[in-house]
Amino acid sequence: MNTTGQLTSLDALLFAARAHKDQRRKGTGEPYVNHLIEVAALLARIAGVDDVNVLSAAVLHDVIEDTAVTAGEVERAFGARVRVLVEAVTDDKRLPKAERKRLQIEHMRDAETAVRLIKLADHCSNVATLPADWSAARKQEYLDWSAAVVRACAGTHAGLEQEHAARLERARREIG
Ligand code: NDP
Ligand code: ZN
Repeated sequence: MNTTGQLTSLDALLFAARAHKDQRRKGTGEPYVNHLIEVAALLARIAGVDDVNVLSAAVLHDVIEDTAVTAGEVERAFGARVRVLVEAVTDDKRLPKAERKRLQIEHMRDAETAVRLIKLADHCSNVATLPADWSAARKQEYLDWSAAVVRACAGTHAGLEQEHAARLERARREIG
């Protein structure tokens, strides 16, 4: 039993679940928190991640981008390391979408391993759940971009990169 009184990644999951409580994933309509759980589960199962800061950042990875929670609040609740990791996987929503997508690729080229692991797991989750109401062209565009992000993370973790490749192939087959 943890008797240290330190916050764990399950506390981060509860924090994230509350912050995203009124949101659903695009198209699939799943509760938002399912995506956060999947990202952390992929990191733990495929990459063997057990660092509480990385798993906490994994479940908090969309909280700055998609909710009113600020980077300062993340730091106050979970510490400076978790803040750094979450900020590193957060897109700047003030920028135009095409620029955001270009920058995500660029940032991953120089990112530290923990950041790339979270981004890989995020993309594994996303390519498996593209909204059914997106056109085939839009899905293809997303998958091509996702492949470019994962190429920018090449050499980070073979298992996660293979998982992404398998999911990408399945998604491409489904589009036809
Ligand atoms: P995005 O491509 O940015 O949407 C994908 C993002 O939404 C993911 O990265 C994911 O990010 C999040 N997301 C939420 N729910 C899901 C889900 N069920 N499955 C996968 N990802 C999900 O779409 P935008 O609406 O922001 O549009 C931006 C881009 O789409 C532009 O570049 C534009 O050019 C293109 N576009 C293309 C069209 C076409 O027909 N070709 C039409 C309209 C736009 P996270 O995990 O971080 O939440
Ligand atoms: Zn995400």
